Amino acid sequence: MGQVNGIGNVNRIERVVIVGGGTAGWMAAAALARFFNDGRRRITLVESDAIGTVGVGEATIPPIANFNAMLDIREDEFLRATRGTYKLGIEFVNWGRQGDRYFHPFGSYGQSFHGIAFHQLFLREQARGAGSGTIGDYSMSTAAAMAGKFARPAPGAKSVVNQIAYAYHFDAGLYAAFLRKMAEQRGVRRIEGKIETVERHGESGDVQAVVLENDTRVEGDLFIDCSGFRGLLIEDTLEAGYEDWSHWLPMDRAIAVPSRNVGTPPPFTRSTAHGAGWQWRIPLQHRTGNGHVFSSGYMQEDEAREILMANLDGEPLAEPRTLRFCTGMRKKAWSHNVVSLGLSSGFIEPLESTSIHLIQNGIARLFALFPDNPVSPIERDEYNRGMRELYEDVRDFIILHYKATQRGDTEFWRYVRDMEVPASLARKIDLWRLHGRVFRENAELFVADSWIAVMLGQNIWPESYDAIADSLDPDRVAAAMHQMRAAYRETAEKLPAHEAFIRQSNGWH
Ligand code: FAD
Repeated sequence: MGQVNGIGNVNRIERVVIVGGGTAGWMAAAALARFFNDGRRRITLVESDAIGTVGVGEATIPPIANFNAMLDIREDEFLRATRGTYKLGIEFVNWGRQGDRYFHPFGSYGQSFHGIAFHQLFLREQARGAGSGTIGDYSMSTAAAMAGKFARPAPGAKSVVNQIAYAYHFDAGLYAAFLRKMAEQRGVRRIEGKIETVERHGESGDVQAVVLENDTRVEGDLFIDCSGFRGLLIEDTLEAGYEDWSHWLPMDRAIAVPSRNVGTPPPFTRSTAHGAGWQWRIPLQHRTGNGHVFSSGYMQEDEAREILMANLDGEPLAEPRTLRFCTGMRKKAWSHNVVSLGLSSGFIEPLESTSIHLIQNGIARLFALFPDNPVSPIERDEYNRGMRELYEDVRDFIILHYKATQRGDTEFWRYVRDMEVPASLARKIDLWRLHGRVFRENAELFVADSWIAVMLGQNIWPESYDAIADSLDPDRVAAAMHQMRAAYRETAEKLPAHEAFIRQSNGWH
């Protein structure tokens, strides 16, 4: 049949070149090989062992399971290969006030009644002085985490276990190696070597080829810049520009060190606030990842290192190493025929473990808008618009943790407590302070319950609860809430211990 409508009359992208083989590069390579390797398209990844990778991204959020599923990766196989553990959320220590502790769980709080948000009923019980505990008492993920237990939700079964939501901790280097193997098996060509120069088309300014130290020339139609903080193509070559957010998030250094496990790995990340930043603890099967993220404007590196080393659970397994960064995002994540992913597209400190998700989301968006040759500015602009929205949402949620502090013990905490925040965040906090209302907007990453966890966890109480909660009989609600709390606690006690669960499901290595 002849072509009647012009569909199909395009030049497909034939050569995709990925620059960089860190987590971003190999995630992109594995995903491209799975969906865009139709035999005609050539996918090449260039990386330099001499330059190496950052390799510290070890905690994640639940959507990563979708990424792995998309690549047909089985969970047990993945945990075994990356020596991973389960993560039910993050415990925050010393954030609202020194001595405070709260848990930001994955999954939701309680159950809504007649469509009325659960937290409104919780707030009403608090207003009645009815001794309803903390909001954390109404989360299955929190109950399991605090008991050191884990089980996967069992779809179909009528149990509160189904309210468990989870992500993983894993060894980032092992994850990249795992994805590399998969990508190479599916036809990705890997070239080792350092890129020295980048060639551009005279007219369009598009990138045409990268040239390695040994003069190997790699041509492409579409380039994915996964070269890390430097942004070899997106910044050094195309000068896309960087939007600096360090006035809101002044952390600019991290010192990382692995330590020996003490006891069995807990199923959660811990974030402990210090004088000018915070420390992560990420438990893996074979070691614990630790790091101190701090602001060099408020603390010297020596002091930051001492604090980190003094606060390890087990003995250190390597020399601590320092990483430098500037919080912000590339003004255009996609410029010309170059799409930046990972650290080359921007960086927000790992407080809520969002970086790997930003890579995953960038890949999904690129696939949804996969261009033809030449790239259309319409698809490129749509990508940039969506990425900006996502980055700004994550940025606001991270800033909330600092803004919602009552600490004033150091200059750093006084600064972040008193600073002006983006209007988008100020509006959210103001709305919460009135009647505890919080709405998930657009495709925002963090659900309402995440915002509630941080606000209440850091002692930001609203003036009142939503009037609609008064439509329900308080005694019946109180009785149902009492039952809910008991069900979470009792169910958690009966679950397998976290390590035992991984061993049973054959994910322990
Ligand atoms: P990199 O790992 O820097 O890789 C860059 C690649 O580019 C390398 O392969 C390098 O060889 C190559 N390259 C560069 N220049 C050249 C050249 N000239 N020629 C050839 N090759 C070149 N994320 C999370 O999701 N959770 C976390 O808990 C988390 N914690 C973090 C903690 C810290 C302190 C930091 C800094 C980041 C953290 N991240 C976390 C982010 C996470 O580490 C990164 O998102 C992830 O590692 C992706 O890095 P990348 O692949 O973009 O860059």
